[in-house]
Amino acid sequence: MSTATLFIDGTWVAASDGGTREIHCPADGTLVGTVSEGTADDAVAAIAAARSAFDRGEWAAVPAPERGDFLLKVAARLQERKAEFARAETLDTGKRLVESEIDMDDIIGCFTYFGKLAGQNQGRLVDPGNAAVVSRIEYEPVGVCGLISPWNYPLLQSAWKIAPALAAGCTFVLKPSELTPHTCMLMMDVLDELGLPKGVANLVLGAGATVGAPLSEHVDVDLVSFTGGLETGKRIAAAASATVKKVALELGGKNPNIVFADADFDAALDNALNAAFVHSGQVCSAGARLIVEESIAERFTDELVRRAQLIRLGGPFDEDAETGPLISAAHRDKVTAYVQKGVAEGARLRCGGTWGTGDLEQGFYYTPTVLDQVERGMSVVVDEAFGPVVTVETFTGEEEAVAIGNDTHYGLAGAVWSQDAGKSQRVARRLRHGTIWINDFHPYLPQAEWGGFGQSGVGRELGPTGLSEYQEAKHIYHNIDPQVTGWFADRKEE
Ligand code: NAD
Repeated sequence: MSTATLFIDGTWVAASDGGTREIHCPADGTLVGTVSEGTADDAVAAIAAARSAFDRGEWAAVPAPERGDFLLKVAARLQERKAEFARAETLDTGKRLVESEIDMDDIIGCFTYFGKLAGQNQGRLVDPGNAAVVSRIEYEPVGVCGLISPWNYPLLQSAWKIAPALAAGCTFVLKPSELTPHTCMLMMDVLDELGLPKGVANLVLGAGATVGAPLSEHVDVDLVSFTGGLETGKRIAAAASATVKKVALELGGKNPNIVFADADFDAALDNALNAAFVHSGQVCSAGARLIVEESIAERFTDELVRRAQLIRLGGPFDEDAETGPLISAAHRDKVTAYVQKGVAEGARLRCGGTWGTGDLEQGFYYTPTVLDQVERGMSVVVDEAFGPVVTVETFTGEEEAVAIGNDTHYGLAGAVWSQDAGKSQRVARRLRHGTIWINDFHPYLPQAEWGGFGQSGVGRELGPTGLSEYQEAKHIYHNIDPQVTGWFADRKEE
């Protein structure tokens, strides 16, 4: 792969200072590729290209249903190139190939959804209460968008931004995580081969503080949409305030998974494992906080521990593996320290808490970990681990379940397990989180809004609101029979 991997104004270019970065697979450390490591100047050049493309107005002038047709073509092309994309995602992230294939289906679903929605939000007539006035609301593209995405679902999180931005008629600069650039490069290739006008889609690669920061600071960026960690989100919001940009933030979560004694035990247990350990817990909506009704807590936890110990770790192409490595050595050190701190604070380590051994020593594996005897306020109950770590708390009755489930500064997602529909609905309504699953965990629908209450974020992705984020509502008021108002008297000189 050449190192001209920044896509600016319709051209693949190298970093302006010739810098490069090696990408290694977290599963075994093999070299996946060498890509350009962009500079702040490269980010500014990409912003200038996006600004100029937006100001030329070429893409926004394409009728919205035709922009939708373009997104449907993107979906079709992604379907054709699915295997190539899935393999690239797997090598960058270390996740199992089958998981990357599922991600690709979700990405294709996202482009399909916004492709169909694009033509359906073109404005509305307003009744002004005056026959001489025609009044309407038009939805216009917000402008130049800075799109910053994380490493856990590199292309999926980017697709949730790219598809509505294009549907709305915006131009953008995308900055994926420096650890996982390859599928975003492939995405630019697809947009380019399908004939998107130059400068509409731009890609910069590199460290957040270098190429990400200009996207939140530069006056020519109208909106910054960020998915990532809470502390980075706060920095981005603060930087964006200097130019009063629109800001969309999808941050972390500390998501309660509440199991009542009357739940389907086997389904709740199986899903508690999925909630905590899919993608080794590197999921913003991971059910890392298991909250079980006291009367079944001991049996449920014992079974959870037994099953967690059976989970097979392995590389992307190991067909026996059930989950993969953490993204980096640094991240594994963070998860290790997080568990050690929890134990020092009094949590009981029931299983896990170790690194992968044998063949797994080549990668950044961390064993599925269950901590019980935790209390509200302990760091393992408050902070996001973003690793395969689940804590177990217990409750008695609905009131306490809701109180524990809401005891977090986050508010991204949560689940309720019960066969009593009335009780599940009551609890779901009272939980202060952006998504509540009842008797399920983790499903996302492109047609349903996703986002956080509290410090899990600002704004929503997906669903109709996910498109509105990239639109400005403009009111056009046309008086077709203008009259003298007489408000100010015309005092002629006497
Ligand atoms: P991160 O905050 O470290 O990085 C995210 C992105 O921001 C990367 O592209 C990074 O390079 C960039 N960045 C870093 N500093 C920056 C700066 N000063 N200015 C601009 N950009 C900057 O997060 P991560 O470690 O990549 O991802 C993990 C986090 O993402 C977790 O907290 C997780 O919960 C969250 N996440 C949230 C959702 C959601 O939908 N709410 C989805 C996925 C991940």
